Amino acid sequence: MDLSVRDRKLIWHPFTQEQSADPPTVIIRGKGSYIFDADNNKLLDLVSSWWVNIHGHTHPEIARAIYEQALKLEHVIFAGFTHEPAVTLCESLTTILPPRLAKFFFSDNGSTAVEVALKMATQYWKNKGLSKNLFLSLEGGYHGDTWGAMSVGQRSGFYDVFSDLCFPVKFIPFPDTWHGDENVTEKEQAALEVLRTYLRLDGEKISAIIMEPLVQGASGMRMCRPTFVCELVELVRQHNILVIFDEVMTGFGRTGTYFAFEQINVIPDLICLSKGITGGFLPLALTVCTQEIYNMFLGDNGKTFFHGHSYTANPISCAAALASFKILTQPETMASIRTIKYTHLAHKSKLLKCQNVEHVRVQGTIMAFDVKETVDLKTLKEKCRRSGILVRPLHRSVYMIPMYSTLPEELERAYEVIVMHLNSY
Ligand SMILES: *Cc1c(COP(=O)(O)O)cnc(C)c1O
Repeated sequence: MDLSVRDRKLIWHPFTQEQSADPPTVIIRGKGSYIFDADNNKLLDLVSSWWVNIHGHTHPEIARAIYEQALKLEHVIFAGFTHEPAVTLCESLTTILPPRLAKFFFSDNGSTAVEVALKMATQYWKNKGLSKNLFLSLEGGYHGDTWGAMSVGQRSGFYDVFSDLCFPVKFIPFPDTWHGDENVTEKEQAALEVLRTYLRLDGEKISAIIMEPLVQGASGMRMCRPTFVCELVELVRQHNILVIFDEVMTGFGRTGTYFAFEQINVIPDLICLSKGITGGFLPLALTVCTQEIYNMFLGDNGKTFFHGHSYTANPISCAAALASFKILTQPETMASIRTIKYTHLAHKSKLLKCQNVEHVRVQGTIMAFDVKETVDLKTLKEKCRRSGILVRPLHRSVYMIPMYSTLPEELERAYEVIVMHLNSY
């Protein structure tokens, strides 16, 4: 029986309306920037397999590291025990993180990295003898699908069903911007004004702000200016509020620097990392915090951070992350990241000439634009797919988040295909 039929019998897919969805495409292998279906048709993976892959599919160095680690130690309890891959990974990451981000807490995925950050922030203030139970977040921000992450992501539009059971959060408008946006300063000032009001009324009660710096992924690769984030952070810090950057998507080179905060000139108190951390091979996440936060959990048992997962710091995932780190920090990788960015920028004018396109934006390796109502995104996606290009539009946005293995000529072809199909509406 066809695999997609067997799948249909048993499997419930994520973010999928199973009644109307097309049968899932069977993928039999991946190599570099491509995935291959059952008929061996290759698809250029411009969504990096849901934003996790950074060096290309089945990268042999990462595959080898996983195999070798699995033969040595596949897993061990991480409370009271430790192992080489976990320690070496954190040591390696300190070479690309500022010294202020000093303590590493492992978990399994982006959502858990966020849960850990929210719980740490809450307990930090409790352990300090203060009661602060309110969070700040940005409208349209997405932080994962577990309950705390849903609460701070309520305005992403995915969680209306659950909103009654989410904890209260104050939301600040997100001043998203694009090429040629004339109202950006006004939007930013309006957002900061909302923030000032919250701070005036509830400043004392707010424990932390959580945000995706520079690029909001799931709400359609919406981008904001670094100066806005900088101003926002300055304001909240005057009120003793912790700053959590959710770099689950933006981390590991996506925005052109290892981390987005490098372009903002702000170091957060907590950072959430996942997705690209293992090069897209295995689940793993880190919440990294300051020494000051860590110190506030020292003392009697009441101050302990009671949080952990069965697979905390899985050695095989850590080995994959180490192998990915080695590739990431080679000069050629940063060169590829720059080349992708320049290829995006070189194609901006072509997109701007399309009648159906607006709000063209680029941040490092990420490119996005919105389409007007005349374009049916489902058929656009289908047409691209038949031309060998995998895109997955979000709301009204079409985006590319290529792996760093993607060559300029592959991207150029993708642009040609997309522009050709856009012009057919
Ligand atoms: C994907 C994502 C998450 C959630 O990560 P999962 O691994 O899917 O749980 C959290 N924050 C951001 C910014 C993300 O893009």
